[in-house]
Amino acid sequence: MVSIKSEREINSMRKAGAAVGQILDEMCQMVKPGITTWDLDRYAESRCKDLKVVPAFKGYHGFPACVCISVNDEVVHGIPSRKKVLNEGDIVGLDFGVSIDGWYGDSARTVPVGKVSDEAQKLIQVTRESLYRGIEQCREGNRVFDIGYAVQNFVEQHGYGVVREFVGHGIGKALHEDPQVPNYGSKGKGLALKVGMVLAIEPMINVGGPAVKVLSDGWTAVTVDRSLSAHFEHTVAITQTGPEILTVF
Ligand code: MG
Ligand code: MG
Repeated sequence: MVSIKSEREINSMRKAGAAVGQILDEMCQMVKPGITTWDLDRYAESRCKDLKVVPAFKGYHGFPACVCISVNDEVVHGIPSRKKVLNEGDIVGLDFGVSIDGWYGDSARTVPVGKVSDEAQKLIQVTRESLYRGIEQCREGNRVFDIGYAVQNFVEQHGYGVVREFVGHGIGKALHEDPQVPNYGSKGKGLALKVGMVLAIEPMINVGGPAVKVLSDGWTAVTVDRSLSAHFEHTVAITQTGPEILTVF
């Protein structure tokens, strides 16, 4: 079942999305060599308290932190740690969500730590652009695989691998709702998109092959070939006038 949100419900999701965007903006400003992923997570939790919003990931299926923080060849679901220090040249993915009055927002960005290689910079740019290509397809009359087609067609032109094991999703009263939104697929296939659907679009893109595996901590997904990976995500409402990004401050 894919839920259709009323204008009033989407307005509640705008509030959650704005808090996600604000805290992510602040965390991105903090990223620099020497900071630990633990520091970033502690900051996000304290800001949730300030803004009176509920961190969405803490305790979700047992996840132990507020932010999924994934460095270099880590794709998604990295666990913040006091031992994990960010170094010049790393790239770091911050995936964060909150709820307000039971309505969710979910967003992710990958940012450079200090000066990074040209390869890392290009991966970040291409992955960010692929998100916007996907978002552009979030219109009534299109189908769900139009989103994945747009992402895949763009990133594969650069020789990059599109992760298959993790996908975007509907979002609303739950963090993960139907439908699944893969970052690959054939134009014109799948569920017909309608005004009032809200989707989290989230390409996960590798410099090398698409294959990923989960480490023994049960969470952290890494590229099998150890190549760099980037992740961008926005929560997007399909409106009468086209896509509206909710996770912005
Ligand atoms: Mg997310
Ligand atoms: Mg998500």
